[in-house]
Amino acid sequence: MTVLDRRRFLQLGVAAALVPRARAATPLRVVVAGAGIIGASAAMHLARAGADVTVIDRAGPATHASRGSFAWINASWSKQPQAYHSLNQAGVGGWRILQRELKLPVRWGGSLEGNADVAFEGTLAERVAEQKAWGEKTRFVAGAELAALEPNVDFSSLRQVVLSGNDGATDPVASTRIFLDAASASGAKVSYPCELTGVSMANGRLKAVQTSRGDIAADRLVLATGAAADAARRFADFDFPQRDTPGATTLTAPMPRLVNRVLWLPGVHVHQRDDGRLVLGEDDGPPQNDAHAARLAGHPNAFPSRELALEHAERMRVLAQRYVPSLDKLDVEDVRICWRPMPLDGYPVLGASPARRDVYLAVTHSGVTLAPIVGQYVAQEIVDGELARSLQAFRPDRKFGATTGH
Ligand SMILES: Cc1cc2nc3c(=O)[nH]c(=O)nc-3n(C[C@H](O)[C@H](O)[C@H](O)COP(=O)(O)OP(=O)(O)OC[C@H]3O[C@@H](n4cnc5c(N)ncnc54)[C@H](O)[C@@H]3O)c2cc1C
Repeated sequence: MTVLDRRRFLQLGVAAALVPRARAATPLRVVVAGAGIIGASAAMHLARAGADVTVIDRAGPATHASRGSFAWINASWSKQPQAYHSLNQAGVGGWRILQRELKLPVRWGGSLEGNADVAFEGTLAERVAEQKAWGEKTRFVAGAELAALEPNVDFSSLRQVVLSGNDGATDPVASTRIFLDAASASGAKVSYPCELTGVSMANGRLKAVQTSRGDIAADRLVLATGAAADAARRFADFDFPQRDTPGATTLTAPMPRLVNRVLWLPGVHVHQRDDGRLVLGEDDGPPQNDAHAARLAGHPNAFPSRELALEHAERMRVLAQRYVPSLDKLDVEDVRICWRPMPLDGYPVLGASPARRDVYLAVTHSGVTLAPIVGQYVAQEIVDGELARSLQAFRPDRKFGATTGH
């Protein structure tokens, strides 16, 4: 962790939050809806802060975006502007701290991002300089050094390769479960399948949440419902624009080590976990046509057939083989399709609903990177009542401007 990350984390009191606090006489009753990586981290931090926590999920832990995520942990140059970049840096710092305590499956070692576009060379050089100024271990690498870092990768078609030394990648399903186990160890109850169906209010305050398994008395509700588009409107009486997009990732069976770092290359991204499983993702997806659009219309979370899933995996393999020549076949374990929780402007939505102050919204892309810091802030704001200045730009009632690329 950089000095900057460490200082920011200590300022935020993250290290202190690792020690379960003594419970208040009447602990705040908090229901967390959604047991993806955001809900799981929030539940852990809330329970450790002394809240009486119940986590519910209508499907189960890490069954949606957190299952199919590529799970790159990063504060890369594309995380703009600096307020958002800083939040991601704090997320990366949080992973390092929590990994030591919880033995999370994170492989560190950095990422290598490739650029093949001559027109982008100058901008990337500026971004790399900016990354250094913002405390990242980022620099260009080439030649023998690059070959030594990744002996099985052919970078010859690229004009520039950027090494970001602080980055890593995790197994998001395992990490979600570890966060939930830690929440349970601090007294949280975890219930699934259990769907949030409504809220009971009295005099503008939350009294209970209604679920498919009956009512749960609650003082606060955290909506960590990911890309469930109607959740904010239904339960927080508030809506914000979203642009959820689908994404697919391929997971292979364990294989001998082929790549050492996260590779983010034109068209395709790859990393290999410590358990040997290769994870592949792609930038563009399949060619857009009517059949594809019809399949996506119902927001599926699984491929309609193994055959179609393998078609996606094969497309990713072909893209990856441009850079990893020995990748001539994949022993595919799973191909996942998931929906990114994505507020319209691309930035997190974090904070109390303007219409129902007891309902807290926690919806974000880059949610794997951000899970530790988002969980920390949710607990700080709900249990301690301390509003985090770093979240000012990410409040639900901000003006949602133009769509950004990240
Ligand atoms: C293909 C892909 C690649 C990605 N790559 C990266 C990456 O490299 N790095 C990174 O940082 N981020 C990445 N992301 C984003 C990241 O995965 C997400 O931001 C993160 O997983 C969101 O976690 P979550 O817990 O908010 O949502 P989810 O994991 O989707 O969990 C939401 C949960 O809410 C539950 N739920 C919904 N409605 C209800 C209800 N009414 N009652 C009860 N439960 C309900 C669902 O069942 C679900 O389990 C990627 C995402 C995708 C799809």
